[in-house]
Amino acid sequence: MKLVLEDWVEGERDRIVATLCDWLRIPSISAHPDRAADVRRSADFTAALLAGAGMEHVEVLETAAGAGLPSVYADHLHAGPDAPTVLVYGHHDVQPVDPLEEWASPPFDPVLVDGELRGRGAIDDKGQTLFQIEAVRGLLAGGGMPVNVKFLVEGEEEVGSPNFERLLEAERERLGCDVVVVSDTDMWAPDVPSVCVGMRGLIAYGVALRTAKADLHSGLFGGAVPNPSHLIARIVAALHDADRRVTVPGFYDGVRPLTDAEEASMATIPMDEDAWREMAGVRRLEGEAGRSVLERIWTRPTCDVVGIAVGYAGAGVKTIVPAQGRFTVTFRLVPDQDPDVVGAAFEAWVRDQVPEGVDVEVTRMGGVAPALTPVDHPAMAGLCRAVERVWGKAPLFTRIGGSGPEEALGRILAAPVLYLGVALPDDRFHAPNERMVMDQFWKGLLAAGELFGELATP
Ligand SMILES: [Zn+2]
Repeated sequence: MKLVLEDWVEGERDRIVATLCDWLRIPSISAHPDRAADVRRSADFTAALLAGAGMEHVEVLETAAGAGLPSVYADHLHAGPDAPTVLVYGHHDVQPVDPLEEWASPPFDPVLVDGELRGRGAIDDKGQTLFQIEAVRGLLAGGGMPVNVKFLVEGEEEVGSPNFERLLEAERERLGCDVVVVSDTDMWAPDVPSVCVGMRGLIAYGVALRTAKADLHSGLFGGAVPNPSHLIARIVAALHDADRRVTVPGFYDGVRPLTDAEEASMATIPMDEDAWREMAGVRRLEGEAGRSVLERIWTRPTCDVVGIAVGYAGAGVKTIVPAQGRFTVTFRLVPDQDPDVVGAAFEAWVRDQVPEGVDVEVTRMGGVAPALTPVDHPAMAGLCRAVERVWGKAPLFTRIGGSGPEEALGRILAAPVLYLGVALPDDRFHAPNERMVMDQFWKGLLAAGELFGELATP
């Protein structure tokens, strides 16, 4: 059976690769303030790309805070009032490139080698956004879009989407849709197609302790005054019990057990824990007792202390009892944990660990709720058929342990979020030598074309 964009794409390959290279040459690093002009240039490039593909009402959207990292909106709403509306989400900003010396070729000078396009943003997320835009161009060239389509291409995803919720709230009406399609995730393997059905949530806290007005001489005062190093070590150690479960009271209360169908679906994943351990570059695996690696990284909530700063750790010895210290802790959350409930429990717990006479300051840093796409939604069946037609196999259901703006999209726009992601686990997201395997790109483009058709006729 012929795919709807199969013939069209044959005549377009060179132009599309050249377009992607042009986009990748723009160093739109959202984390570097001195690259703000490049993020804007990338937004303008995105807008021109969408307009050139036939999209209408193209607009560069400034962020609410005026941070200068604009997003881009466009729509094409001519499929008729009965046709569903699909919102495609992607992002045009990229991660920083250091360490630069580990790149085999310059990050913003893309090269096509052995069927891979290498460059910063190739997979995350300009490449994956481009195949969506090109699918729309191809469908419009071939007679029209089967669904109404809107694009929202963000400019500050890689810095944690600080203004994204406000943007969604402010533009809720214009962004209104029946389904969200995100292309910013990966597949299990090139010959094991999969679709993501959920992401974990995230909350982070900074905890600062002060035990004295100033550092004290460890000979004159040590042994008779509190030491924040010891206190932090005790608190951090107390976060987990011997089974490596999180000890914050009520932490697991909101966790929804997996259904039989979810358990069965996870059992189909061809997970090789030894290979995964080697990929991670660790010699032993640890985690919540009685849980598999996939459970630990996909379906169980976790706590990780991501940084500790206390005392003197430079060359030699400085004989002090430090006066202050701090640590940062993150919690990955799963359905139906509420970031505010878990956060409040942690705050109360950590204050309780600090003895009287020690100052403690607890600072919440952002929060994202967990996201889960209902696998029995008709749009999900359409996504699975689209992927199966292109890859020749029905996709497996996977999850992502990380967190992103997808939860806000689904919640604020009240629509299911579908993930059509073609990245491979070794595409080096956020790392040197990021790449797009072009075979996956072309398949993604064809699958996007199939998916629009599927969503038109649920
Ligand atoms: Zn991304």
